[in-house]
Amino acid sequence: MTSSARPADPAGTAARPPLNRRLAEFGTTIFAEMSALALRTGSINLGQGFPDTDGPEEIREAAVRALRDGRGNQYPPGPGVPELRAAVTAHQLRRYGLTFDPDTEVLVTAGATEAIAAALLGLLEPGDEVVALEPYYDSYAACIAMAGGRRVPVTLRPHEGRFRLDLDELRAAVTDRTRLLLINTPHNPTGTVLTRAELTAIAELAVERDLLVVTDEVYEHLVFDDAEHLPLATFPGMRDRTVTIGSAGKTFSFTGWKVGWVTAAPALVSAVRSAKQYLTYVASGPFQYAVAEALALPDSYFDAFRADMRAKRDVLAAGLTDAGFDVFTTAGTYFITTDIRPLGETDGFAFCRALPERAGVVAIPNAVFYDHREAGAPFVRFAFCKRADVLEEAAKRLKSLSV
Ligand SMILES: *Cc1c(COP(=O)(O)O)cnc(C)c1O
Repeated sequence: MTSSARPADPAGTAARPPLNRRLAEFGTTIFAEMSALALRTGSINLGQGFPDTDGPEEIREAAVRALRDGRGNQYPPGPGVPELRAAVTAHQLRRYGLTFDPDTEVLVTAGATEAIAAALLGLLEPGDEVVALEPYYDSYAACIAMAGGRRVPVTLRPHEGRFRLDLDELRAAVTDRTRLLLINTPHNPTGTVLTRAELTAIAELAVERDLLVVTDEVYEHLVFDDAEHLPLATFPGMRDRTVTIGSAGKTFSFTGWKVGWVTAAPALVSAVRSAKQYLTYVASGPFQYAVAEALALPDSYFDAFRADMRAKRDVLAAGLTDAGFDVFTTAGTYFITTDIRPLGETDGFAFCRALPERAGVVAIPNAVFYDHREAGAPFVRFAFCKRADVLEEAAKRLKSLSV
């Protein structure tokens, strides 16, 4: 070796980029770019979906108490603390009439995010196909890829003001290689809540083709007007083939606590746990005790929370309509999806990159949640889980788009 030889390249970046092929297509999330843009321009950030006020004081205090009393400061049990597992089963029974065994049919996870990852890692063989509703929550595609699965999108399309599922398209997407259906209702980012007819069709298909179903129901308590959240596990033939995912983050406005859970038949919970134990093993010890108390709050908490979020939705929806957007029916979640074409725009990416300078508001182009980017191009998502005065100011700023 001569003295002029280049030093070795220990990371191998010259020959081969460090990021593996499974994840290479995903890059960094749009949220990083848009949040930086919000900061730089002093914009109101309606991009990412987290509340700007914390959840109930008594639940925060319950977490403080657990911490002080030394509950959960060391590794909690792998399946979750017994108090929380009991609270999850009591909640499923009280709300939906579903019975689960807290010892064998509940698993506490580090938020719904880990539940999704562990479910896919635990249930998929490489090459298995996953039929998922598009637009997707952003972790689905990456987790399917990490598990070596193949995603098969079924696109939700607007019809009479609402994004809906085309049942023929869903049926056509299922092949002999399909292992599971990945469902999300209430649906982020479209704000749609799947109807009884849509869910019945999903359930019938799952039974007929003997498929597993993973269903992300983190917005189960955020349904508005006459929409109703119907858990897939309540449909005929579904209880024992469905992995239901819940989370405290959205329901109790503590998204930083990362307490989620899975309810399913024992063999399915066991498969999810096999993956989960090598991801975080356990998480969020003291918060698990606080969430156990939160789940036992009286119906009045859930009703007031829903009414408050509905009022926020109305403020933002009125502002967006005023500003000239087409606003889709938002029956659930934290989000309103809009169509920008009435504003003379067609490209959501370009629109969202320019919006902070134009109007001082940050939103997310729905196209990032699609494989068929063109299908999502004119749609833009705004979060309304913010204080009313923030939403009113955002509405005022957006008004400048229409003049
Ligand atoms: C926020 C969100 C999650 C993640 O929930 P965590 O409990 O914070 O991990 C999962 N799915 C959907 C649809 C979400 O909007």
